[in-house]
Parts: sequence; C-alpha cells; structure tokens
Amino acid sequence: MFATPKVNSQGHKRAEALCRAGASLSVRVAGMSRESVVDGPGLRTVLFTQGCPRSCPGCHNPDTQPLDGGVIRDVGTLFQELIADVEFVKGITFSGGEPFIQAEPLAELARLLRQRGLDIIIYTGYLFEDLLKMSRTDQKIYSLLAAGDILVDGPYIEAESDLNLAFRGSRNQRLIDLPSSLQMGKAMEYEV
Ligand code: SF4
Repeated sequence: MFATPKVNSQGHKRAEALCRAGASLSVRVAGMSRESVVDGPGLRTVLFTQGCPRSCPGCHNPDTQPLDGGVIRDVGTLFQELIADVEFVKGITFSGGEPFIQAEPLAELARLLRQRGLDIIIYTGYLFEDLLKMSRTDQKIYSLLAAGDILVDGPYIEAESDLNLAFRGSRNQRLIDLPSSLQMGKAMEYEV
C-alpha cells in the first residue's frame, strides 16, 4: 500500500508561491466541465484548478498536478463563464488540482457566484481539520472555507477506492457541511 501524500504548511506555502497566477485575483485553471452530475448534488459546472502539491497514486486528474501548468484567467472572466448557464445549474464545484493553494482568488470567485444563488462545493486533498488549523494564521484559507457549502476532503487513496460512493473516489474522503462545521469548530458530515 502507498502512503498518503502529506503536505505540511511549508509545502503548502511553497506550492502556493509556485502556482501563483500573477495578479492576486487571477486563477491558474486546468479546465471546465459543464452539466456534471458526479461532482456534487444536482447539475453542476466544474472548475478544475491547476496545481497540486501531492502526487497521489491513481490520481484521476494527473494533468492538473504541475504547479506552473494550465492557463491563467482573471476572476471576472471566470465568473462570466461560470454563470453562463446559471438558470440550469444548482451550483459550481471547485476541483483540482488543489483549490486551497489558490484560496484568495477562489474565495472572491465563490463570493460572486453565491450572490447569483449558486452553491459551492470544494474538493481538497487536505483534511478539514488541517485547513481549520491553517486558517488560524492564513485568512485566505478561512475565506475560502467560509465561501463554500460542502467540502470533499482528503486525498484520493487507491487502496480505499470505491466506485459506489456518492461524489467521492475513495472511502477516506468525507462530505463535510462547511457552514455547520465552521460554526461548531469540528467536521460535521453532510448527509446526501
Ligand atoms: S490531491 Fe487530488 S488532484 Fe492532487 S494528486 Fe491527489 S488526487 Fe490528484
């Protein structure tokens, strides 16, 4: 069995710096997928962010791992593209890559999308508990957590793979209700 790839706060900051997309309100993007029903409840548009500090064996999106890859898009342009089908979709999913190494622009993008009535789901390789700890010294992390509705946390672990799980690839990953979890200060699971 492979060990779960860990990223400490130093590794996070290094990845954040390498992935930086120039202006603070720009995002390094791997791609976009519309009309998804597998990336969270309801019909969704998925924004795949570029750059991930892990190399999980069996990663479904290995092309999103390079920290200097993808294309750089400003938040305003992304917002316009993501609301193109606002009448039909329930919400937007941020997947990866690792969204939390681009927390600042994604928090602003999520804030704008929520104003249009869209809910936000965020996939991350971090555990909720680690993000909560990091958020005490990094306001950007807290802003992104606070802008989300559901967090799907933990890296994909091949040995825990299960095709029957809703919206997750492996049994270690959790669906977390973000507003309740931030209020309680601990992970509260979201019931599908
Ligand atoms: S955290 Fe996700 S995107 Fe990053 S390597 Fe692991 S499975 Fe791939």
